[in-house]
Amino acid sequence: MSTSTIAVVGAGLAGAFAAVGARESGFDGRIVLIGDEAELPYERPPLSKDVLRGDKPPSSADVHAESHYAELGVERLPGRSVTTLDPEGPAVVLDDGERIACTAVVLATGAAPRRLAVPGADLSGVHHLRNRSDSLALHDALGPGRRVVVVGAGWIGTEVAASARQMGAEVTVVDPSPVPLRRVLGDTVGAVFAGLHAEHGVDLRLGRGVQAVKGDGTVEAVVLDDGSSVDADLVVAGIGVIPRTDLAERAGLSVANGVVVDEHLRTSVPGILAAGDVASAFHPHYDAHIRVEHWANARGQGAVAGANAAGAEQVYDRIPYFFSDQYDLGMEYVGLSQPDDELTVRGDLATREFIAFRHRDGVLTSAMNVNVWDVVDDLRALIVARTALDPARLADPSVPIAELGPGGA
Ligand code: FAD
Ligand code: NAP
Repeated sequence: MSTSTIAVVGAGLAGAFAAVGARESGFDGRIVLIGDEAELPYERPPLSKDVLRGDKPPSSADVHAESHYAELGVERLPGRSVTTLDPEGPAVVLDDGERIACTAVVLATGAAPRRLAVPGADLSGVHHLRNRSDSLALHDALGPGRRVVVVGAGWIGTEVAASARQMGAEVTVVDPSPVPLRRVLGDTVGAVFAGLHAEHGVDLRLGRGVQAVKGDGTVEAVVLDDGSSVDADLVVAGIGVIPRTDLAERAGLSVANGVVVDEHLRTSVPGILAAGDVASAFHPHYDAHIRVEHWANARGQGAVAGANAAGAEQVYDRIPYFFSDQYDLGMEYVGLSQPDDELTVRGDLATREFIAFRHRDGVLTSAMNVNVWDVVDDLRALIVARTALDPARLADPSVPIAELGPGGA
């Protein structure tokens, strides 16, 4: 075994994949996985879905079994924070002052929820959802007849609203946008989600902001910016996240909407890499830096950063992908679109069985399949190929997806 050390800071999904990826790429030195949560690395998607509802046990979200880390010789330091990243060396300093000199460091510190900042936001009963403990606390607070106001109609807001309804709670969703998920999906497809939630009995207060949370020690009502008031037993804020860049900033790394990394996920300081929600990575397909806040990106970048920390030269060029499940709607999304990209729909928005293609100058920028399956590989290939596509053929269900590209009939 060599005397080299790779430290992975942050034991979430990207961190777990970085540690395992470093070993699987042949690194035979010490690998230390440091995480400020006192548990095994876990995946977050179930925290707003089956784990929140209690349909699956919390442990079902674990990324790997404990034995897997032991078998690979990954040393876990749970419940420990890195307080300083020393770019000289590099080295990391832990909360008890222990200093670990490293050959390479992977920053996988993720993101933290933006906190609701209105009068009353500190009342008992106001929840944010990021960690497994948050999900378990929210599970205990929900149930039949409980009145919940969800602030934010993004991914957390819509998924929590669906789970809460499935648990029998009375749900109101408040968001300043006219439709849910507008920034990512646009007005037409966002309206599909508005219809879905309305059909399931969610009271949507769209185009509205929250002015205050009222209560005597605990939540009793939420006051909206039109002066109306919604009685509530609890509030869930899902109003976005902020990348956890503080260590990188203090160490003098380049930071701009995340820790800036190249296509090899290397930061501006030799020997320090970053992956997952915290990384703003140069993406060769887009010829730009992008920061992606989704599961597949954390897995993929984690593995590449771990391998590259161990000396590999892998490029991360995977097209962004994510998924969501709400009630009986399952969807996947591949690509990256601008709000003004054109929309072509194949299928039926009303029955919620469709593919929404977004394109610019005839070139596909993203595709979202809703209750349509086994199409993502073909859709991704079309995006990678940057082929000019005919919107009429995109919309025509008789044209197989695989034949939309070059050489298609
Ligand atoms: P994180 O998961 O945030 O992990 C970072 C870890 O680093 C945390 O444990 C943090 O505490 C720790 N840390 C930070 N700083 C330090 C430090 N200084 N010292 C030690 N440890 C530190 N994506 C999808 O694609 N589909 C979904 O359905 C989906 N559902 C989601 C549901 C919820 C409720 C949430 C919160 C997210 C969901 N996501 C989903 C997004 C996805 O989970 C994230 O993109 C992913 O977790 C990012 O992984 P990460 O490892 O980069 O960061
Ligand atoms: P998000 O998806 O970015 O959505 C935040 C929503 O809150 C947006 O609609 C935003 O509107 C709105 N908003 C912002 N400030 C507000 C305010 N003060 N009052 C009311 N609404 C406000 O973030 P999120 O839902 O909080 O999710 C957190 C993270 O988890 C994200 O990284 C997300 O990608 C991830 N996540 C992903 C999934 C998935 O992929 N299925 C599921 C759950 C969570 P504007 O857009 O107009 O600002």
